[in-house]
Amino acid sequence: MSTFESVIGLEIHAQLLTRTKIFCGCPTSFGAPPNAHVCPVCLGLPGALPVLNEHAVECAVMAALALGCEVQLRSVFARKNYFYPDLPKGYQISQYEWPLARGGGVEIQAGGTSRFVRLTRIHMEEDAGKSLHEGFADSDRRTYLDFNRSGVPLVEIVSEPDMRSAEEAASFFERLRQMLVWLGVNDGNMDEGSLRCDANVSVRPVGSEVLGTKAEIKNVNSFRYLQKAIEYEIGRQVDVIEHGGRVVQETRLFDAAQGKTYTMRSKEEAHDYRYFPEPDLPPLVVDEARREALRAALPELPEARAGRFQTAYGLPAYDAALLTETREIADYFEATATASGHAKAASNWVMGEVLRTMKERGIAITALPVAPGALAGLIRIVERGTISSTVAKDVFAKMGESGRSADEIVAADGLAQVSDTLALEPHVRHVLDAHAEVVAEIRAGKDRKLQFLVGQVMKAFRGKADPRVVTELLKKAIG
Ligand code: ADP
Ligand code: ZN
Ligand code: MG
Repeated sequence: MSTFESVIGLEIHAQLLTRTKIFCGCPTSFGAPPNAHVCPVCLGLPGALPVLNEHAVECAVMAALALGCEVQLRSVFARKNYFYPDLPKGYQISQYEWPLARGGGVEIQAGGTSRFVRLTRIHMEEDAGKSLHEGFADSDRRTYLDFNRSGVPLVEIVSEPDMRSAEEAASFFERLRQMLVWLGVNDGNMDEGSLRCDANVSVRPVGSEVLGTKAEIKNVNSFRYLQKAIEYEIGRQVDVIEHGGRVVQETRLFDAAQGKTYTMRSKEEAHDYRYFPEPDLPPLVVDEARREALRAALPELPEARAGRFQTAYGLPAYDAALLTETREIADYFEATATASGHAKAASNWVMGEVLRTMKERGIAITALPVAPGALAGLIRIVERGTISSTVAKDVFAKMGESGRSADEIVAADGLAQVSDTLALEPHVRHVLDAHAEVVAEIRAGKDRKLQFLVGQVMKAFRGKADPRVVTELLKKAIG
């Protein structure tokens, strides 16, 4: 394997988050009964005419700008002709020679190094319907068709063959998902098919500048499967070559259960799409004024925001990257940091209890019962020393259950930490008397033993003594 280098290029299809379809007014919402969202246009009935959805264009342009692409002044919709039952018009409206945007790229991290992956193009197109091969009493004889997806707006994002490992490809796909969801142009839902990926894979001898023959793996819909499919495919191609064979250009599918790719169709069976400009739609013009208005409307992007989290709040790069995974997490952190005045503590809480609770309950941060203002209240009383960080975790859980503030819970449940020297001193005395041998050991240099004594005092207060004050008192007494 080490004498071969793998080369990967991805084509990503992302559904644009519009209320209605790309060329008609049918809703795009997921989960409706089959064929509830259809009309003459998306059913391809004769004489029906497409009208381009302006919001779909805005979403696509925002994605292109955020990814550093050059949005084209003029792009052209074309008919991609092929026959398939889920394509009632007999052609898909897509962009071909004149895509919406060209160039751009994203920085990815994998295996401890970073790499800039260039984009070739971004174009707009409509989705096809869905063939239902199972789930009906007569599914052994019949295939049913659901056209709810027919005409749903998509962008296809095509990368240059710039990735060199399965891990890099997965990282690229993750970065694109993060960006599209961040912009609010895609919901990132891979299970529902809102985001899908085709992986083009080839191998070549290390040092070679020419590209090997590629295989295209269609429709992978998870990061893990993408990585597995590519890893398998690289191994398969190397094996073919090492056994004196040649890789053939073909389209393959990934069987997740077997962890293998298999042939779907070879080059000979490849479609000739006979593209030609769509006569029912004029060229799409995105002039400078509109483009710049959309650029101005872009939110602060993840990398910029992570950079600002480091400079403005003094956070480590690790925290900043984690906190900018989604815009909602970044907003939650920033609101908590501002309200509490303790950025690092806010970061620790979000990266710890907040993300853990979200994962545990399978909820978004916006559905978390503890709002940033409430968490800030909790952080303030921890920083003041009113409660210990251990007790604070319980308080956080109680806040989530009851909707009460941290102050209310601490007062009602008597959780405030005892840091009053007068209250603590008698117990410190008592512990010192009861463990004279430990005191002797500490005096002889075994500093670690001090923790044991702190623990004994804490026990007397059922965890509610302030460990900092207890430690000070013990040290002073031991001398
Ligand atoms: P096709 O004509 O088969 O659609 P394209 O040249 O349009 O091929 O490329 C489609 C995708 O395949 C792009 O993401 C591109 O980066 C990638 N690609 C092209 N050639 C190779 C190769 N030899 N190995 C890996 N990926 C490739
Ligand atoms: Zn319709
Ligand atoms: Mg192509």
